[in-house]
Amino acid sequence: QNVTGSPAKRVLLLKPRGFCAGVVRAVDIVKIALDTFGAPIYVRKEIVHNSYVVNDLAGKGAIFVNELDEVPAGARVIYSAHGVSPAVREHAKERGLKVIDATCPLVTKVHVEAIKFAKQGYSLVLVGHRDHEEVEGTQGEAPTVTQVVSTVEEVAALVVPDPNKVAYLTQTTLSLDEARYMIEALKKKFPNIVGPHAQDICYATENRQTAVKNVAHGADVVLVVGSRNSSNSNRLVEVSQNLGTNSYLIDKAEDIRAEWIENVSTVAITAGASAPEILVQDVVQYLQGKGYGSVEEVEVMPENVRFGLPPEIVQAIASAP
Ligand code: SF4
Repeated sequence: QNVTGSPAKRVLLLKPRGFCAGVVRAVDIVKIALDTFGAPIYVRKEIVHNSYVVNDLAGKGAIFVNELDEVPAGARVIYSAHGVSPAVREHAKERGLKVIDATCPLVTKVHVEAIKFAKQGYSLVLVGHRDHEEVEGTQGEAPTVTQVVSTVEEVAALVVPDPNKVAYLTQTTLSLDEARYMIEALKKKFPNIVGPHAQDICYATENRQTAVKNVAHGADVVLVVGSRNSSNSNRLVEVSQNLGTNSYLIDKAEDIRAEWIENVSTVAITAGASAPEILVQDVVQYLQGKGYGSVEEVEVMPENVRFGLPPEIVQAIASAP
């Protein structure tokens, strides 16, 4: 859409951007749980990695905790979209907690693969960031046989009992190029390595990166709306920077520094999978205020994925008065 303003300064709004199906589902689960069961509802870790979303839900009565020890015995707790290890599930059982699982189905898919490969006697190599909750959860499915790697140097240093019996998995929110590079290094080191049927990097991560790749060359700056701890948001910044286009991660419009957009005519905006649209619109408004009169949405591909709610929530809705 074209609105009045200097034609030289324009905003390209990438699509798809922002909330993915796993995030929509996780946020809905917390909201429905609060509506159905009433506050407080405990949530283990940030439900999704976005400070606005977390603060908003906290304001509605969700209590975010780091570990289950902080949840009163017998209370209701939601697992975040990033998933949990079997040890956490066991802990919840011991504490008598009522669990609602908001793990994204595409994270669960990777857990299932980890279990399958481990049962078949493979050593597992998980490509990902070891401090990320998703990686902790996946590794926890087969902790004694899983090694996490995030660099080719770590691949080179891998030692396994049988180099012919190795399987790899990846975190869902890696850079596609980075993952390809790592998998090539793994295949060189272990020629008989096996992997998942379809890649573990999820559709939302792939689509948002593809949109940046398509548009970054035509922009002077790519602004990525997302929080610091959001893996897929950080990857969007890297994808743009690797193409030679300046890119910055911002939580909100106020984070934009004047020098980033000094003498800049085209600003592309995207958002990580956990960043809500309201924050994107704030950024658009802010830029319009700075003379970016033309706002054009660039849809690189359609995206219509939706996930169903978990049985605990479906039952709660069904039995609500
Ligand atoms: Fe699921 Fe991908 Fe969204 Fe993560 S980014 S919640 S894996 S759809």
